[in-house]
Amino acid sequence: SPMSLDAWLQDVWYGTRTPPWWLRIWAPVYGAVVRFRHWLYARGWLRAYRVGAPVIVVGNLTVGGTGKTPFVIWLVGRLRGMGLAVAVVTRGYGRSRSRRVTNDILRVDASCRAEDVGDEALLISRRTGCPVYVCRDRVAAARAALADGAAVVIADDGLQHLRLARDAEIVLIDAMRGFGNGSLLPAGPLREDVARVARAGATVLTGAGAAPPELTRVAARMSLDGGLLLPVNGVDGARVLGDFAGQRVHAVAGIGNPERFFAGLRAAGLELIAHPFPDHHRYTAAELQFGDALPVIMTEKDAVKCQSCAPEHCWYLPVTASFALADERALLGRILMDARLLDILACPLCKGPLRRAEDASGPVLICRADRLAFPVRDDIPVMLEEAARQLPPTDPLLER
Ligand code: ZN
Repeated sequence: SPMSLDAWLQDVWYGTRTPPWWLRIWAPVYGAVVRFRHWLYARGWLRAYRVGAPVIVVGNLTVGGTGKTPFVIWLVGRLRGMGLAVAVVTRGYGRSRSRRVTNDILRVDASCRAEDVGDEALLISRRTGCPVYVCRDRVAAARAALADGAAVVIADDGLQHLRLARDAEIVLIDAMRGFGNGSLLPAGPLREDVARVARAGATVLTGAGAAPPELTRVAARMSLDGGLLLPVNGVDGARVLGDFAGQRVHAVAGIGNPERFFAGLRAAGLELIAHPFPDHHRYTAAELQFGDALPVIMTEKDAVKCQSCAPEHCWYLPVTASFALADERALLGRILMDARLLDILACPLCKGPLRRAEDASGPVLICRADRLAFPVRDDIPVMLEEAARQLPPTDPLLER
């Protein structure tokens, strides 16, 4: 069968195929446009808008998946654990073409459809319950989030959306694929020069593999954990991934890097018939009928689009981002500092203000109303009632 354009490009970018001359000539042009845009913003000829609350940008330098959605879900959880009201703004990739051209702001909830709001936005909303705003204009989306009460905004995939001024930037890099052939679009997968990484606050290397040689420092290494399969259409029960070890299954993935998903299933001992699809692919029922009774296993991002067209015996594998403790502390510490989040932390009980102080154990955050001292361990506040120390009414820490 003829190779699809998408598969051919993937092979040029990440495989051994040399980019043809008619792709290579456009890379310097693309690079000049990117540098010119940065220059216009740096000079103030194009305006970047501050929205009045800390903005944390999560993005990648390459086209395609780097585990960004699981990372955003993780970050939402961590920031909420500190008592912060978090909202996510996103472009809404994977929406149908007609929905992408408007500047309407869509508020995502669990009842939304992927073709209206995008598969990643729907997944983040369903997994976190956090307010998610979809709009081509991320400044407008962030302002809507603040009007609804958000104290911190996470801009998903906003690294190149310079119009939205940011306080912290996190760049995710897929360790398995690195920067591909190292060329800019369209000859390679890079959306910006690799040197851009040095200007970002933090880098996160996702998945197994060595860091690309261009990368001089890595803030944290993220892995994706998942072992429980959940039914897509609710007919079958949940299954443990290991139950399928040694069995033949159909594996379906319409994500930036399907091979990452397939490699994980193979590592669990499954025998795969792999069905890679382009990122954000919208499935028809026919594409998921393989003419046999073998189980079908797909990613969670695919599953949010397949609830009505999934075949029988179809499961998805939710994955969760995880970090080694030291990496997590380094990363969160950097984000807290860059986005000055310590200044806007609120008491998780009364939502009232907190005051920084020192006690015998080190730095603490004091809520005077509740007479609680929340510990700050390795620069990361632990905003849990059970971790806090109750202060007697006469405690000197309660004095102004
Ligand atoms: Zn309080």
